[in-house]
Amino acid sequence: MKFALVCGKKTEATKGAKGICPSCGSDLVAKCGKFKINHWAHKRIRNCDLWWENETEWHRSWKNNFPVEWQEIVLPDERTHEKHIADVRTSYDLMIEFQHSHIDPEERTKREKFYKNMVWVVDGARLKRDYHRFLKGKSNFRNTEKKGYYFVYSLEECFPSTWLGSSVPVIFDFRGTESISDINDMRNSLYCLFPKRIDGEAILAAIERDTFINSTIDGKLLLWIQNLMDNKTKQEPQNQNAKPQIKNNIRRHESQYVLERGRFIKKRRF
Ligand SMILES: [Zn+2]
Repeated sequence: MKFALVCGKKTEATKGAKGICPSCGSDLVAKCGKFKINHWAHKRIRNCDLWWENETEWHRSWKNNFPVEWQEIVLPDERTHEKHIADVRTSYDLMIEFQHSHIDPEERTKREKFYKNMVWVVDGARLKRDYHRFLKGKSNFRNTEKKGYYFVYSLEECFPSTWLGSSVPVIFDFRGTESISDINDMRNSLYCLFPKRIDGEAILAAIERDTFINSTIDGKLLLWIQNLMDNKTKQEPQNQNAKPQIKNNIRRHESQYVLERGRFIKKRRF
């Protein structure tokens, strides 16, 4: 973990430091070595949250884009008392989970059900073949009327199978921690795969990193997701009951802006 509680305050690991786990309350020790990024580890139990993934540089650089008070949030399920630590929870109650290692579809589904209002950010640079597959599959993307938005039919030819049945948006980061000097390199953008299908086709949107980060901070990301979900649900009336819960949260922020040609504009009043 990046944070422990030290004297009740969220604190990063420094050599020799001791802290308390914000989730289970047991002792944590700071691990500050040469090979792994500085982190906190449980002194006795291996880890209190089985969903917790050993953090990489990639996780950290992503988390660091967000305010400290949004990072590593303990979320208890009031009914079952199950607890998990969300990587990021925005002030608009959107969870952002950063997934570096492989995850089975069943496990992915469990987490989507637990977090409900969430997006995945997937490390698409862990396996070289993932980006190769994406580049190859790209030739089958169909342009929409909005720049940077595509219809994708043969999803399995573009993305790892684990993510194809996801019920929430999945954002692929093919750049990883690499820095790329060519501004036209496709890996500079993130690619957001939306969950619903229209006649077997999914919507994929290219989104700039800064846009993604800033829109989580000002809450517009939720609006953007809802707009795209709405476009699709209108064409899929049979799926009206299966609307993701993410919509409930967005409503509160819905009134001012609409998405037109890929841009947010203030709603006109008549
Ligand atoms: Zn713990």
